[in-house]
Amino acid sequence: MIIEPSRDWNVFKQIFVDHWQGFKQCRPRYATPYYEGLVNKMLDCGNPDKMGYVEYRCLDCGQGHHLVSMSCKSSLCLRCAKVYVDDWVTQVSKMLHEGVIYRHIVLTVPDVLRPPFYQNTDVLLSPFMQCGVKCLDDFFSEVSGKALKGGYIVVVQTHGRNGHYNPHLHIIATSGGWDTQGAQWVHLGYLPYVMLHKKWQWYALEMCRDALPTDAMNRLVQTCYDTYPNGFVAHVQKGDVPSRYQSLARYLAKYVVSPPISLRRLDRYEGGYVTYHYRSHRSERVEWERVDVYTFIGRMIQHSFPKGFKRIRYYGVQATKTFAKIKGLVRQALAKVGAIVKGAIKIIAPKNYRERYRESSGGDPLICPHCHHEMGVWKIWHPKYGVVYDELEAIRKGRYAWAGRSAAG
Ligand SMILES: [Zn+2]
Ligand SMILES: [Zn+2]
Repeated sequence: MIIEPSRDWNVFKQIFVDHWQGFKQCRPRYATPYYEGLVNKMLDCGNPDKMGYVEYRCLDCGQGHHLVSMSCKSSLCLRCAKVYVDDWVTQVSKMLHEGVIYRHIVLTVPDVLRPPFYQNTDVLLSPFMQCGVKCLDDFFSEVSGKALKGGYIVVVQTHGRNGHYNPHLHIIATSGGWDTQGAQWVHLGYLPYVMLHKKWQWYALEMCRDALPTDAMNRLVQTCYDTYPNGFVAHVQKGDVPSRYQSLARYLAKYVVSPPISLRRLDRYEGGYVTYHYRSHRSERVEWERVDVYTFIGRMIQHSFPKGFKRIRYYGVQATKTFAKIKGLVRQALAKVGAIVKGAIKIIAPKNYRERYRESSGGDPLICPHCHHEMGVWKIWHPKYGVVYDELEAIRKGRYAWAGRSAAG
């Protein structure tokens, strides 16, 4: 069948309904209660009887009625991807400091390391994030000749644009670091890439050797040193990085929290095959890929992280209360180099359900269509806890009795 935009979500679910059981038999690695839960949650997403709901009613005329189903927020759920991105943007915006210059640095590993990363996610991903930070602290220190501690927001991403497994780090790093000894902020205007490549290679490979001390890994590490004498790819995004910080988090979200294959990119689901497209970095063109359903499910699910795994982490001066203390000094130092960005950072307020609805439909869901008064919460039902709020019950129990008496009296 050819997929129409409005049917994308249903088709995505249908692929899992049709093939999840078979997929698990093929790839027993995913036959666990955790993955089972992820898939079930995703399939139930948006269904009020399964996920729970908030019911609104017009308390003025009694006619207006609106039901909001709870969303699943599962990492596998493409329907929730937008909510997830909005929450992410809010969270990261709060951590960006006005007047501070940040860089977006991407640290990658070569193809040969992808299989061991895929097979040992539990063991490798956390040390991977930490070693990116150690590498940058060391790099900044060597460049400046002082022991510097930078501030970092680290996000691990495990897929490339085509949905293939490709673990890499996106790091929002301060443009220098705090020199504890000199009690000053040291700004680095220029970064020597050649040095960063070599350093990153060393940190990444030694981390692999430490975290996974097997003969196979040892051999792989040696191969990597031999094959890549110039180091691993590490680049600082330039040019299109927005200079205004209110949009920095939004810009980053595009890179780091987008799903492996987005709903709008599914073109066809037919005869056990799925066709989707993506924009390739390499060719700068839209490319199509046709894969069997098991490969498709595999590509979607291999990017859900181990249970409890934190994808975004804050390190160095960014992570601690230190930043509040040294912020003044950081700004002074940056003002001196003349590179400070003028104007305050606008923190992007979290978008709630109502704003999102308004954005997509143009209407306000909580205004009664009959009398145009604002509706109130009538009932909240949760699949595990049952009815957690009931306005009618509250009225019966006399919640408004005192107010009523006083109005009457
Ligand atoms: Zn969902
Ligand atoms: Zn009304």
